[in-house]
Amino acid sequence: MRITLYTRDSDETVALGERLGSLLGPNDVVALRGDLGAGKTTFTRGIALGMGLDADIHSPTFNLIHEHQGAMPLYHVDLYRLENEVDVETLGIDEYLYGGGVSVVEWAERMSGLLPPDTVDIEILSGPDDLRTISINCSQARIVEGLRMESVDA
Ligand code: ADP
Ligand code: MG
Repeated sequence: MRITLYTRDSDETVALGERLGSLLGPNDVVALRGDLGAGKTTFTRGIALGMGLDADIHSPTFNLIHEHQGAMPLYHVDLYRLENEVDVETLGIDEYLYGGGVSVVEWAERMSGLLPPDTVDIEILSGPDDLRTISINCSQARIVEGLRMESVDA
């Protein structure tokens, strides 16, 4: 099931991420795709808020994975600096994906073969200006219904 939503500034993207974050449960994986500056990290900031985490979410510069502890941990993965999919396997990513927390993966296309089948797949398209088109593809009815109920489609 696909839902397409639009945001007009970064606050709206945070708010959308927050709604998704409040719907996520253990072992859920969110794959974020989109160009540099599209809003993936901004969206992740919202997810953390929705999970009730007081986390400092920023683009990891050196580490590919940032762990944020909480009632349900958030594993923030950013594969921008990853050279190839083989490197992902050496990260031991499965321990995160199936470790009971929520995993959010920026540049998820770089490990597409390793993502669980029920991954929430999100593509953010940028422009014109501050407009973002956010397409959410999700097979989990619980999440889709939650997003629909509070939908703010433009
Ligand atoms: P990415 O992680 O995809 O590289 P970031 O979230 O780090 O992107 O940066 C997005 C940039 O775009 C920020 O500077 C943010 O302020 C800006 N921006 C402008 N409009 C939006 C919007 N509607 N949603 C998200 N970010 C936006
Ligand atoms: Mg980023």
